[in-house]
Amino acid sequence: MTERADAEVVVVGAGPAGAATAWALARSGIDVLLLDRARFPRDKVCAEYLSPQASRILSEMGALSEIEARGAAQLSGMLVRSPGGAEIRGEFVAAHGFRGFRDRGLAVRRPVLDTILLDRARAAGARVHEGVRVLDVVRTGARVTGVRAIAGGTREPRDITARLVVGADGLQSVIARRLGLARTARWPRRMAVVAHYRGVAGIGPAGEMHVDAHGYIGLADVGSGLTNVAVVVPAQSARRGVRDGFIEAWIAARPHLAERFRDAERVAPARVTGPFARYATRAWAGGAALVGDAADFFDPFTGEGIYAALRGAELLAPYVYDALRGTTPTTGRREDVALAAYDRCRRHEFRGKWAVERLVAAAVACPPLMDRVARALVRRPDMAHLFVGVVGDFVPPRQVLRPSFLLRLVAG
Ligand SMILES: Cc1cc2nc3c(=O)[nH]c(=O)nc-3n(C[C@H](O)[C@H](O)[C@H](O)COP(=O)(O)OP(=O)(O)OC[C@H]3O[C@@H](n4cnc5c(N)ncnc54)[C@H](O)[C@@H]3O)c2cc1C
Repeated sequence: MTERADAEVVVVGAGPAGAATAWALARSGIDVLLLDRARFPRDKVCAEYLSPQASRILSEMGALSEIEARGAAQLSGMLVRSPGGAEIRGEFVAAHGFRGFRDRGLAVRRPVLDTILLDRARAAGARVHEGVRVLDVVRTGARVTGVRAIAGGTREPRDITARLVVGADGLQSVIARRLGLARTARWPRRMAVVAHYRGVAGIGPAGEMHVDAHGYIGLADVGSGLTNVAVVVPAQSARRGVRDGFIEAWIAARPHLAERFRDAERVAPARVTGPFARYATRAWAGGAALVGDAADFFDPFTGEGIYAALRGAELLAPYVYDALRGTTPTTGRREDVALAAYDRCRRHEFRGKWAVERLVAAAVACPPLMDRVARALVRRPDMAHLFVGVVGDFVPPRQVLRPSFLLRLVAG
């Protein structure tokens, strides 16, 4: 099959995870076919914040200067308002001894970001087919040897063969489901309603999160005079019927926000997504690997899915290369050994951040706890800066997982 395969690697999904994987593989000489059901520029429901450390990978991909030139907003840190009204302010630049690749995070509309990344993959030599929906994996025996896909405007699916398939097809990943690896977490079951507004008052250089007993709302400047507004609520509160006007009703019920939206105007219909909190039992199977949201996504509060997608791609690419071209002797089938090693490496890389995400989600779901934590972080800005550095992906998570740090947090 090797000689006659349509590509050495088929990457399904051309979001940040797929584009970055295809870019890295193509530049190391691997023949990559990148498929996406959408045609770019395409939108994606997202709060559109990028951590300071995401800029390192964007810079390596040769994408950073174009993203900045296309009007990305620069974010200096985070402001979190607790249910009781306490305001925690954490800055990316602080005296804790850690420094990000950049001193600022970025916020940029997804059609802009994702199209730039896709162009980088194309420039590195990846073949890109847009408007192609993948329906299933194709197996030879127990191994994945390609995908079944249907191109826009055609009726008949066709099989596309490859030595390896990478599932980078997002939260509802067809690849993860067909491999039997996808799981839905029981908690948290949250949905998001997201829209862009013009004319929101008081938007500064910090990304904002306002938490209350019913969920949370994120506000961030995303450049071009637009504010990204994302309301995240328990799944049962965001049924499809309430989509229109949902954000406006949420804001109107909160006087501290309503005042700021008095002259604001929504520039496009709100979009809804969720529930999130999905994961794969492992990020590989014989002949296939998962990356980005296809491998796991928990909750958007800490706004790091794009970094995790880019970093996951950066971790995966050398293992795929080793699986296909490696010369190191292995005790089992080369692909399986390499992909199992990728899975271990991925768990090791993200374990700390996963723990932080779960702690944050627990605090957000429990207003008295969130208020306690907020009191501690308002009193100790140094701790707030450290926390925001972890969220910004340049402070190691163990810094805030130390028992002494956690005890000070819950002491209030
Ligand atoms: C409400 C919300 C807010 C968020 N806010 C932030 C934030 O501020 N910052 C942040 O870093 N992250 C945020 N995230 C997470 C972030 O959006 C994701 O983690 C990120 O997009 C993951 O990238 P990806 O490439 O894995 O998946 P995606 O970006 O989802 O890309 C997957 C691609 O696969 C394609 N695809 C899917 N199925 C198929 C198929 N069957 N065949 C072919 N193509 C297919 C899709 O068209 C898509 O282009 C947020 C998420 C949500 C839900």
